[in-house]
Amino acid sequence: MNIEQQITTLRNELREHNYNYYVLDTPTISDFEFDQKLKQLQDLEKANLQFYDANSPTLRVGGEITKNFETVPHTYRMYSLDNSYSKEDLEDWEKRIEKMVDGNVEFTCELKYDGASISLTYKDGKLKKAVTRGDGFQGDDVTANVKTIRSIPLQLKGDFPPLFDIRGEIVLPFEGFTKMNAERVELGEEPYRNPRNTASGSLKLQDSAEVAKRPLDCLLYSLKGERLPIKTQFENLEKARQWGFKVPEAAKLAKNLDEVLEFVNYWDVHRHELPYETDGVVVKVNNLQQQEELGYTAKSPRWAMAYKFKAEQVSTVLNQITYQVGRTGAITPVANLEPVELAGTIVKRASLHNADQIEKLDIREGDTVFVEKGGEIIPKIIGVDFTQRDPNTSPTNYITECPECGTVLVRTEGEAQHYCPNAEGCPPQIIGRIQHFISRKAMDIEGLGGETVTLLVNNGLINNYADLYLLKEKQITPLERMAQKSAENMIKGIEASKQIPFERVLFGLGIRYVGETVAKKLAKHYKTIDALKNASEEELITVDEIGERIAQSVVSFFASEENIATIERMKSYGIQLEISADKLANQTDILKGNTFVVSGVFTKVSRDELKKLIEDNGGKVSGSISAKTNYVVAGDNMGPSKKTKAESLGVAIISEDDFLQMIS
Ligand code: AMP
Ligand code: ZN
Repeated sequence: MNIEQQITTLRNELREHNYNYYVLDTPTISDFEFDQKLKQLQDLEKANLQFYDANSPTLRVGGEITKNFETVPHTYRMYSLDNSYSKEDLEDWEKRIEKMVDGNVEFTCELKYDGASISLTYKDGKLKKAVTRGDGFQGDDVTANVKTIRSIPLQLKGDFPPLFDIRGEIVLPFEGFTKMNAERVELGEEPYRNPRNTASGSLKLQDSAEVAKRPLDCLLYSLKGERLPIKTQFENLEKARQWGFKVPEAAKLAKNLDEVLEFVNYWDVHRHELPYETDGVVVKVNNLQQQEELGYTAKSPRWAMAYKFKAEQVSTVLNQITYQVGRTGAITPVANLEPVELAGTIVKRASLHNADQIEKLDIREGDTVFVEKGGEIIPKIIGVDFTQRDPNTSPTNYITECPECGTVLVRTEGEAQHYCPNAEGCPPQIIGRIQHFISRKAMDIEGLGGETVTLLVNNGLINNYADLYLLKEKQITPLERMAQKSAENMIKGIEASKQIPFERVLFGLGIRYVGETVAKKLAKHYKTIDALKNASEEELITVDEIGERIAQSVVSFFASEENIATIERMKSYGIQLEISADKLANQTDILKGNTFVVSGVFTKVSRDELKKLIEDNGGKVSGSISAKTNYVVAGDNMGPSKKTKAESLGVAIISEDDFLQMIS
């Protein structure tokens, strides 16, 4: 096999495995084998840039930056749907339809997925464009981001037509949403409210690599095009499935309205077992010829109707309001409820968000409250049943002192949350910070888990993350459930973490609002912890993507003498608190103040390497050409529109060799 054949074979294999895993949900090889094949393809592609393919499975990890999402018209308008809420509504609709068309009317019943609608254009079996709904006539081009969604085929299979659009919904399944939120809470950030907004927000992120990290999924429901090989909506779904799209199996053909109602009633109960959110059923006239006869109103098709499920609600007694203290000291009030069944699960607790929320709804202990499970995962209290209120109660007094350490709470202007300021002495904060420090994305200390941290703190062996590095085996073994072997492993793991690079240490310090990405940015910009420590708020704000909120938080972290002392100790233990020398050796400031756009295919370095070279030498990489661009580095096949734009703006176009010369 020659190299081109090898590449093609690997691409086809990986496509098939992606399909098995993400569309069919039945992988046939292990993750490890998959990663190996992917790596093999990446290496081959890197060494043989002439075989570049914009739809290669290796591009699923993203990396393309979109600064401004271009507005593009839809070839076929994206309509809204009319809503119905009862059997009677549906019956009225059926009557209207039957007056307008000849013959028997059948329906397709589908679930109404609650996410962000998307229109995908495929040409010759390849994904060309992904556009949001926008106002229905035109939307935003989010192709780079959408390409990272693994269940969307970049290359179709079977007998697909040469050109068509397909409509679907991009959703964030509950499981992934919950995981993302757990990570945010750990960072001291506000959790996202619901999967739907998070899904549509994800499509508009500038960095597609960030989108790639989000476990988004795409469910398809309709083809649009000229002379498509279909006569009914049900065939629409079947064909799409054959060509490799993810089309949920729930869809059903209904011979009459009774069968439609059966479907509706079934899913009203069983939708809670689905991995993603739904807010109703969409009923469509099955025959496309009949659809055409029915046509559209100003806003929506006459041949389709959404049936909306009612958000489920129950009432129960609020036994007690308790307060949780997070790693950053943030206080969250929690409603402890008399257990009650809601949307298929037993609910015992609900979030009360913050003091304002309690005051606004006038929630008191002992009240009968209405609990709702809508888009949010955690049920919420939407109001009080005042007919049940005991007239002898008085409004809830929000706590003024930390429930864990007794310190007086503070609340900063403009913030919703109260905080316990006793960072150094408040047990859940001490434990939470160390747990964050050792977590996988930070120091990733093998042999040490969250519960052991609690044990170590409670036994007075450690009080902050620097203390970890002074632990001795003989201190650990006497502890409950601590065998000799586990103690050895823990010490080994702690020792090994001294090699973890600066950016991850910085993330591990747990500075509020400094997540993984921000830590990377700061590490790269300041290079050493001392330089970062000395940066003022004004200076910090000038760093790309660092805002006021982050800047303030960084400055206040380094204003604490205790933090400084901890960091000095960590330095003396040999933890990486600056970018390592060999990494630094490759970095310069030569390109400082210059913005580059990279376009086309290169022969000596890959696109990613080129971008990295620009950044390592102090330049900035931008995704699109504007008056602010200084240079376009042009490879083979540079897009003609980019070329014209660069020329019209007088931006210098340089070759790969020119660029390498520049930094040599
Ligand atoms: P609405 O936004 O309430 O007017 O509802 C229309 C939207 O429902 C469409 O734009 C789609 O995004 C969404 N939708 C979800 N599932 C389906 C489905 N199975 N068929 C048609 N539209 C759907
Ligand atoms: Zn406290």
